[in-house]
Amino acid sequence: MNAPVFGSFTLLHLLLAVAGIVVAGYVLSALGRLFSGRKQDAHVQAARCSACGWQGRVSRLAGRCPRCNAPLGDRAARP
Ligand SMILES: [Zn+2]
Repeated sequence: MNAPVFGSFTLLHLLLAVAGIVVAGYVLSALGRLFSGRKQDAHVQAARCSACGWQGRVSRLAGRCPRCNAPLGDRAARP
């Protein structure tokens, strides 16, 4: 038995609306960090290839120069 709050607007709808607002706020906050902050750089490092001189940003997981495929080393660019 559904207990109507306002006509067909039930408690379930209210919960869904609140959940939607929370999710929307979370997504907007995540997008804000993505475009304004540098927190997303956790898996990206600035690197310079000692073999060919390439400089740029590369994934820590890849660890290889995109130009000559030489191993860049994960520890070189860490602070
Ligand atoms: Zn290289």
